[in-house]
Amino acid sequence: MLQDEIKNTIKDYPNFPKDGIIFKDILPIFENPKLFEKVINSISGNKMFKKTDAIIAIDARGFLLGSSIALKTSKPLILARKPGKLPGELITGEYQLEYGKNSLSIQKEALKKFSSYVIVDDLLATGGTVDCIARLINENGRNVLGLLTVVELESLDGRTRFDFPVESIIKM
Ligand code: AMP
Repeated sequence: MLQDEIKNTIKDYPNFPKDGIIFKDILPIFENPKLFEKVINSISGNKMFKKTDAIIAIDARGFLLGSSIALKTSKPLILARKPGKLPGELITGEYQLEYGKNSLSIQKEALKKFSSYVIVDDLLATGGTVDCIARLINENGRNVLGLLTVVELESLDGRTRFDFPVESIIKM
């Protein structure tokens, strides 16, 4: 089963990037093209893509998924990037991470073009990152249709922050 394959492939790094965090490294998925393809097909088959105007992928592992999913679903792709990376006029939000603070920006021009979005990322932990993006989208009069991830850390209850559907391939 895809779920078991992913669980057996993801590697845990205890106490990274700081004490008490078990970092779930999804990068070995990309070392296995067959598994990578199955993950992309699984997420791309989600019914949310039928309704959405565009996809927003989150820096940086979300990009690896987002670009393949955008091709597969023929949907426009927008990137939410960490500070100092995007040119032009930006909308930026700050958020608290499971292990620190950060901010993410989206190009204003990009957000003007589409009205509904599916957010794609590798992993949902506390939900702070996705909440930041969802707020930016909503504050600009746009809609979030849902969040799709490979992994969800269930004990952190991230999904309870959102009023849109959250679907992950595996829960840990
Ligand atoms: P959060 O905002 O707490 O939901 O964190 C989600 C973001 O941080 C995702 O982009 C993940 O890549 C990363 N992240 C948070 N916690 C972990 C973890 N335990 N293992 C791997 N990535 C994590």
